[in-house]
Amino acid sequence: MRNTRSFSIGPLPIGGGAPVTVQSMTNTDTRDAAATLAQVRALAQAGCDIVRLSVYDEQCLEALPAIIGGAPVPLVADIHYRADLAVGAMERGIAKVRINPGNIGSVSEVRRVADCAKMHHVPIRIGVNSGSVEKEILAREGGVTARGMLQSALGHARLLEEAGFHDIVLSLKASSVPLTVEAYRLAAKETDYPLHVGVTEAGLPGAGNIKSAIGIGALLLDGIGDTVRVSLTGSPIPEAAAAIDILRAVGLRTGYVNVVSCPTCGRTGIDVAAIARRVEAELSDIRVPLTVAVMGCVVNGPGEAREADIGLAGGGLSRAGGSAGGEGSAYAVGAIFEKGKAPEKVEGDLAAILIERARRLARERAAQA
Ligand code: SF4
Repeated sequence: MRNTRSFSIGPLPIGGGAPVTVQSMTNTDTRDAAATLAQVRALAQAGCDIVRLSVYDEQCLEALPAIIGGAPVPLVADIHYRADLAVGAMERGIAKVRINPGNIGSVSEVRRVADCAKMHHVPIRIGVNSGSVEKEILAREGGVTARGMLQSALGHARLLEEAGFHDIVLSLKASSVPLTVEAYRLAAKETDYPLHVGVTEAGLPGAGNIKSAIGIGALLLDGIGDTVRVSLTGSPIPEAAAAIDILRAVGLRTGYVNVVSCPTCGRTGIDVAAIARRVEAELSDIRVPLTVAVMGCVVNGPGEAREADIGLAGGGLSRAGGSAGGEGSAYAVGAIFEKGKAPEKVEGDLAAILIERARRLARERAAQA
């Protein structure tokens, strides 16, 4: 992991090897404190460690105490152009501010924001997007480049540094995945500020998830990134799950059940998809690392799922026939394979058998921990 400055967003540490956090942003009208607080809570429930909200006028400021008071996670105020709103949000207890100091006016305005942030121990994120790079930099670079994005971010940072403020987080997002990755890699090399990583305007869920996973995932695998946001058009709630899936895929969140399942083929003897879905849903509350495999055949399944702690290999539908009802519950025969033990032939509701065995294993793991 990259060596960065470290400080806190409310009670949450960022940088310096602290766990990578997940954040998202509300899309309710911030002036509607009840609706915004409800969405902050829903985002926290979905797995967000930090939630950002737009603060664009005095009415938003007035709503902040109620939202902050009821929020289960630290909140970030997203502010453009107005130092007075940044100061107002900090005075009302916001945990972090996102503002670009180059856009807030005179040196004395920047100093006012920096002094207030210092007094309240509030970090500031400088958020440069490919669309926000200054004209002079674009002219010098001949268009939007990773180097130009970093120069823009460092230009904003310099204003805070000159005011004696260094609790800075940088973001350099583009909607192009290669440009995003290049900009963050450059920033990681040239600065020691913690980085908020994400691909901006990634689009709708689906393609947006893939762009985010490639961009954020590539950076995290390089050890770059201290907090992540997946940006998807529409409700922000799916952003949290998408970000958590990315952290799991790169091995940064391990206390959960990882379901591996085969793609199925002509040898498949059981309803792998239905059983895998049921296993994933019914074991989602487990908080120890456990890999559970659902494989379609006894010929290749156990070999292909060698990394799993416990798995099921399907043999075919049971001659006894019948059904216990519900998805993935048709009676079938198969084998349970568990690390270090001989495979065991099983018959019946295979999903239920696998779930029960996996739970027992999770309990044993938890007791050992
Ligand atoms: S585990 Fe068996 S059923 Fe599944 S894809 Fe491999 S060979 Fe096919």
